Amino acid sequence: MKYDVVVVGAGTAGLVSAALLAHQGKRVALVEKHPYLGGRAMEHRHEGHQIGLGSHLVEDPGDSLTRVCELIGVPMEHSKQSDSMPFWDNGRWAPIQEHYSGQAKVGLKRCIQALTDMSYDDIDRLDHLSMREWMARHTNEEGAYLVWEAISILEQITDKWYDHSASENLYVRKMHYEMRRTAGYSFWPMGGWEKLWKDIAARFEQLGGTVMLSTKVDRIRIENGAVTGVDIRSSDTPKGGAGEVIEADQVVVNAPVWDLLRLFDDGALPFNLRQRIEMLADNRNKACWIGYWIAAKEPVIAMSEREMASFQSSPRTGLGGFTLNFTGYDPSVSPSGEYLTCAGVAFDATERYADKDWIDRKFHEFWLDIEDMMPAAKGALWKKPHLVTTYGVINKPGLVGAVRPDAEVREIEGLYLTGDTTRSRGIGIDKAARSAITTSEVVLGRRLAHFDGTVRY
Ligand SMILES: Cc1cc2nc3c(=O)[nH]c(=O)nc-3n(C[C@H](O)[C@H](O)[C@H](O)COP(=O)(O)OP(=O)(O)OC[C@H]3O[C@@H](n4cnc5c(N)ncnc54)[C@H](O)[C@@H]3O)c2cc1C
Repeated sequence: MKYDVVVVGAGTAGLVSAALLAHQGKRVALVEKHPYLGGRAMEHRHEGHQIGLGSHLVEDPGDSLTRVCELIGVPMEHSKQSDSMPFWDNGRWAPIQEHYSGQAKVGLKRCIQALTDMSYDDIDRLDHLSMREWMARHTNEEGAYLVWEAISILEQITDKWYDHSASENLYVRKMHYEMRRTAGYSFWPMGGWEKLWKDIAARFEQLGGTVMLSTKVDRIRIENGAVTGVDIRSSDTPKGGAGEVIEADQVVVNAPVWDLLRLFDDGALPFNLRQRIEMLADNRNKACWIGYWIAAKEPVIAMSEREMASFQSSPRTGLGGFTLNFTGYDPSVSPSGEYLTCAGVAFDATERYADKDWIDRKFHEFWLDIEDMMPAAKGALWKKPHLVTTYGVINKPGLVGAVRPDAEVREIEGLYLTGDTTRSRGIGIDKAARSAITTSEVVLGRRLAHFDGTVRY
């Protein structure tokens, strides 16, 4: 089998890269080890509800995944967008606006103006800094800090002032202010994620692409400093038997940093790149939270059905977090008359990654907090606890931007990387899609005019 390009992994970035490259006339094979599409943004069903695992909150100001779908001809309908940002403080929910009246509002406006005056290249120089340190150049108002830090809890799952990365957060704020004249908003793709991933894969096949599910790439073949293909193993490969080889001069790897190194022979990757991948893949550098999926007969919310709600400290856990009511965005994700909410609190993996007793205690405390903060939870039909350790590499100062692997491994001809753990900006799915646009353009060796105005590298 010989293809122009093999894409390893059918997560957001793998699907987007494969579809864009096929659209531009490349013969592409998309190889995914799982039987499903979407990677960390896969969807599963529970008690009749559609749980989009990797998507409590989707922030795409319209120029990344949305624009990809436009180009390749896949319909993607946005739900109505979020309509409020409640924030929990002093034992009650209040609109975030209450926290930045008066001088805080003036301070926030100064920050917005300074951000508008900066270029994205300027922001790239802030990878070492916290957002509060950057904001303090323009205001000393706590209320102003609070607004953008509350959004950072929702987006980046960071909850300490020194962990909110300046570059990562300012990129997202600037994109939203410039494209949507707002700090940020959330929406849901109508019909859910599985539908969207399947639609993109079907379009990719129409464009001549080949999708191989339940097929694992064991190794990327490199000879004389150039990629020659991949070794694959599918569910049909006999145990201990030899897999197959797919030949290709170009390979795009979507596997996240924690799966990346096992794809290469020892010493195949440049030393410096290997070191950075090992550092980023360390469990203590992951964004982690504990949370509950909650189904109830009435919406389990803070203030409104399409809110993006957050808090810096829930009463018992002392941890910052979020809550989002999916059914308010797309009623079709739940059985009629039921509502699906997700609520979570972030924790610091450097301190607590494998601390089972502490995590069990926090689960217990958090449920009591949820009942106090959103009393409709007391009537829950069911609640499903979840511990998340694969949201992504945490976007803290020093772990974002240039330290991440670039789209092209220049030392090895034909080897490219893509996904949210590589060098990109945005959050989650949006970030993965932006990285895939960049990677596709690097593979093609030219910019795609359709993405003029899109923020990517
Ligand atoms: C619980 C949870 C909640 C989240 N919430 C949000 C949210 O609210 N909003 C948001 O925007 N983002 C959210 N995210 C993050 C978002 O899901 C990810 O940022 C995004 O899906 C990453 O896409 P990706 O393509 O970079 O990587 P991935 O989705 O990880 O894709 C990589 C793919 O490569 C495959 N692969 C790896 N190794 C091999 C191999 N050897 N052979 C073949 N295939 C291989 C994997 O199986 C996977 O399918 C959440 C994530 C989780 C886990």
